[in-house]
Amino acid sequence: MMLSKESVKNLSQWIGSAKKVAILTHTNPDGDAIGSSLALAQVLRKKQIDARVVIPDGLPDFLRWLPGIELSTTFAYKKEKAAAIIQEADLIFCLDFNDPERLNGVKDLILNSAARKVLIDHHQAPVCFADITISETWRSSVGEMIYQFVKEIFPEDLLDNDIATCLYVAIMTDTGNFNYASSYPEIFHVVGDLMKYDLEKDKIYSRVYDSFSLDRMRLQGYCMQHKLVVLPEYQTAYISLTDEELRRFKHRKGDTEGFVNIPFSVKGIRFTALFVEKKDRIKASFRSRGDFPVNKVAADHYHGGGHINAAGGDSFRNMEETLSYFESLLPGYAAHLSDN
Ligand code: 5GP
Ligand code: MN
Repeated sequence: MMLSKESVKNLSQWIGSAKKVAILTHTNPDGDAIGSSLALAQVLRKKQIDARVVIPDGLPDFLRWLPGIELSTTFAYKKEKAAAIIQEADLIFCLDFNDPERLNGVKDLILNSAARKVLIDHHQAPVCFADITISETWRSSVGEMIYQFVKEIFPEDLLDNDIATCLYVAIMTDTGNFNYASSYPEIFHVVGDLMKYDLEKDKIYSRVYDSFSLDRMRLQGYCMQHKLVVLPEYQTAYISLTDEELRRFKHRKGDTEGFVNIPFSVKGIRFTALFVEKKDRIKASFRSRGDFPVNKVAADHYHGGGHINAAGGDSFRNMEETLSYFESLLPGYAAHLSDN
């Protein structure tokens, strides 16, 4: 991370004089959001700062074991406590999102707060709402950025096994266990350093990835057998799930996480989509291999955005129309999505 001298000076000063810090992350948080937030909170607490994490909604089960999880408050369940943490903070860190819209109900509390704000993120095109924006879109994860940030701001070594574990979960989950967004030497230097804190790498993998319920496995099997649509002429595959189907498999939050990546195992697939019916909309997830920018698809047609190879948005049509609309877009992308 290459922070300017001025930014380092300001950040050091703000952190040095902060008594209470709130760390915010995005709605529907993932391993990077939670791992990087808890890591930063624990680092700041070592500096005698009362640092807390506020999650807008829904902490997935596979992250509940993370060290420092007791420092987090979920706004959707504990509105008053979460609001107080934000209102009392003299410094606010925003991690792993590029737009206050991703905060849902917490958005106004943040925008109305007089506290200094620091955004640390790796998504494209961050909205400028913070006093300092640290945006590095080529980074694997915010976890990696927090590692660099801590090294640059604090001269002493503030890492320990708990913090290294949180950072590793952030990096591991945002790269699909080093499957993508991780093809550069520096990330392995970071992981190499984290290993020095007796990181239990294999155990961490197992705690995150070997944690599915049987219902979730059955739902996955059902998707592969009955719901996977492959359109070889566009190197595209998609899966859709209605509310009725989700209920049939006793769906729990997070159960469809990762489904969007599975069709890449079919030879030739370069673009995948997952459509999941919610109360008032259909949530769309997109993934691609290579240089096909799914964030553009999400922004142009689904009120969304994201990264080049991973993006999402919403459809307000019914499921049938959502799927036919999606298929109707594909010829327009044929230049990207056909063999040549
Ligand atoms: P997922 O498909 O896992 O929900 O999201 C993948 C990525 O797409 C996220 O990391 C985020 O960058 C982006 N994303 C997902 N949903 C939305 C959305 O509704 N709006 C925006 N702007 N980005 C989204
Ligand atoms: Mn991330």
